[in-house]
This record gives sequence, structure tokens and C-alpha cells, in this order.
Amino acid sequence: MSEQYQQMWAELGLDLEAHDALLATLGQVYQDIYLAQPNRPKAMEYFDFVMSEVHGLRIKELIDAKNQGRKVIGSFCVFVPEEIILAVDGISVGLCAGAEFGFDLAEKVLPRNTCSLIKSAFGFKLGKVCPYIESCDVVVGENTCDGKKKAYEIFQDMVDDLYILDLPQSKTDQGRRLLREEYRGFIGKMEAVSGKTITVENLQKAIETVNQKRQALARLRSLRSANPVPISGLDALLINQISFYDDPVRFTASVNKLCDELEQRVAHKEGVFPADTPRILMSGCPMAVPNWKLPSIVESTGAVIVGEESCVGERGTRGLVDSRGGGMEEMLDNIVERYLQIDCAIFTPNPERRNNIDSMTSMYKADGILHYSLQFCQPYSIESGLIENQMEDNGIPVLRIETDYSMEDVGQLKTRVEAFMERISQ
Ligand code: SF4
Ligand code: SF4
Repeated sequence: MSEQYQQMWAELGLDLEAHDALLATLGQVYQDIYLAQPNRPKAMEYFDFVMSEVHGLRIKELIDAKNQGRKVIGSFCVFVPEEIILAVDGISVGLCAGAEFGFDLAEKVLPRNTCSLIKSAFGFKLGKVCPYIESCDVVVGENTCDGKKKAYEIFQDMVDDLYILDLPQSKTDQGRRLLREEYRGFIGKMEAVSGKTITVENLQKAIETVNQKRQALARLRSLRSANPVPISGLDALLINQISFYDDPVRFTASVNKLCDELEQRVAHKEGVFPADTPRILMSGCPMAVPNWKLPSIVESTGAVIVGEESCVGERGTRGLVDSRGGGMEEMLDNIVERYLQIDCAIFTPNPERRNNIDSMTSMYKADGILHYSLQFCQPYSIESGLIENQMEDNGIPVLRIETDYSMEDVGQLKTRVEAFMERISQ
């Protein structure tokens, strides 16, 4: 891929040497973690292809679309409504990064004890290795955790157009009104940037497109409740990660094609791991691509991950927007209603998240929960104690892990995960 796209990357202003090094590392890690998995579904070929072209063909598609007048909108949070971006024929891309790259540069502008997710986003931008952020016409930041909202004050000088969405911290009537007004403002921003007007018709079509994507992912999730499990947790995570970059219609068709194959596997009791393999629900901070460290440790210890309680997973894609009829105001209400169900740990109180973890544990027949927090992420780290108490009281073992993007703790994590597997196997 490298030779073919060099000019495109140079025109985007990437540091070609650093970018080549990043792609080489990513390619090797992908080979070791993904392609080495036995017994993968054939339809994963599509997602392997997307990953092999993640900085190539997909970026070319974005640039071609921009040349035709479409706008590329980057975001860091699942509270940014893709429906509104699609309604102006825009393209939504996720910008969270999951690799320890450029942290030395990021630590010149951010405190060292900032979570890896934020540091990585800064590192990719400052290190000039992310063609997605360089393709964006607008970057949307959101006032969620303290780390992000303060970091955007610095980030605004690093991108041409940073638009901030304010988000509520509580799901009260006042919170609902705030979100509604913020989404109304976002509609105005998207209309101004694109020069297009959002109508009932184009918003309805966009809602249906995103709903279909979420329905395909829900279909995939439900197949993971089978025993044996027809797909690895690593592959399911990859699909969730790709959902932030790929064309939504093509992605939906590819997930449905995979689900057709998985249904056959379930019917024939064919799994990626033997029947009765210990089943783990992963819960916690989002895992942006290529953050595969912990899932690969878990699945290499002889367990299978059956669900992701994460924004790169079920939390980010649960629930549909009601697309039926009404005028713009009613549709805006419907969008707010769906997004306000997201049980991010920045909300207080947040009992919905514990209830959702409880029902996911039953639905996917998980034997244990692995709670994953990034170091220095207070919302998820603090909430993990409440989750542990409730789930252990319900008889579900919980392992709480706090880590970052470095590989230094791999040995120690393996030991802890293995000890947890022994506990749940008893
Ligand atoms: S964890 Fe919260 S802040 Fe992060 S992407 Fe999810 S909803 Fe947004
Ligand atoms: S992982 Fe935690 S600290 Fe980091 S951006 Fe997300 S909510 Fe904020």
C-alpha cells in the first residue's frame, strides 16, 4: 500500500517516515494478533481488507468525496450524532486513537498523568501520522470528562475548525433540554459547513441508515450468546472499531453477510473455541483501534470474550432512533431520546450502566466480567468499584484492571488474567 499512496499522504502533510514506521508496526501486530487466529469466519476477509487499506483506500475515498463537495467530520465520542452528519451528506469518522505514538510530543502540552486515549489523539496529531484528522473539515469535541474538555482548549489551536458540543452530566429534564439545544446548534453548524439544509426527508433517511448499521451490530451481538461462540471477541472488537471509519451502508452489508455465515456456524455448533470455553464480558473504557492488548491476552489464556460493554461496542450502538414521521422538532426529540440512553460513566448518578452490565452478563451467559479502565480515567475507574460490588453480590466474578497503551505490563496482566480464569473455572 505504501508506494501507491505516498503522494496522497504527503499532500495531507503527514510525516512520511514516521507514518511508514507506524504502518509497519501496525501490519506486524495485525498479523500476530488477528491473522494468526485459527478458524476465523470467511466473511472476516472484508474487515481484514479494510484494515489493510485503513490509511490507503479509505482515505482516498474521503478525498474523492471532498473533491465532490462533501464534508468530513471527525469526532471523539459516541454522543456526536452521525445521523445529523449524514443528513447533510457528510462523512463521519472516529478519531480516537489506540496506540502509544507521539506521547513524548503529547506530554509537552498535556500532563503526563492524562489517560492514553487523550494522549494518543494528541500524539497522532502532533506526530502527523493520522490521515483521518488531516482530512477533516470539522473536528467535534465534546464536554464529557474533565480530561477531554480541558484538552480541547489546547486542541483548538491544532486544528482548523474545532466545534464543541456541551453535554449534560445528569439525565434530568434540564439535561435533556441542554442536549436538545446542543444538537440543534450542531444541526446549524453542519448546515453552515455543508451549505445544505436538513429536511425531514434527508434526516429520516440518515436515521434509517444509522439504525440499519446498529441493527446489524445488534444481530452480530446476539449470535455471540451461542455456545460454542461462532466468532472471537477480537474479531467482534475489530468490527466495532471499523464501524467508526467505514462507509455505513457498505459496512452494514458486510456485517450482515458475516452474520449469515455465523448463523450457519451456530446451526452446525461450530465455534472459534470449543464449547464451554470460559466466557468473559469486557466492560469499561472505549478501545480505539489498534488497542487490542487486553483482549488478545484474555483470548490467549483460553477464554472467549462474548461482549463489549464499551463505546466501541454495545454502549455505543445500543438502541435505535425512532424514524417514524413527525416534523423536525419531533425528530430532534427522537434523536435526543436515543442518545440520552448512553450510559457513559461521566453521568451521575449512573445506575443504568450497572443494570445494562447485569443484563449483558445474562444475555451472553458470561462467567465473569473483566473491567478495563485506562490509567488516570477517573469516571470509569471510580465506577468500577460500584460495578464490582453489585456484580459480585450477584455471584458474577469481576476482575478490575487498570492499564495503558504500553506493553510493559503484559506479563503482569497475563498473570492476573490467568488467575481470574482459574477462579471462574472452579
Ligand atoms: S466513554 Fe463517554 S466520553 Fe468516551 S466516547 Fe463513550 S460516551 Fe463519549
Ligand atoms: S478514557 Fe476516561 S479519561 Fe480518557 S477520555 Fe475517556 S472518559 Fe476521559
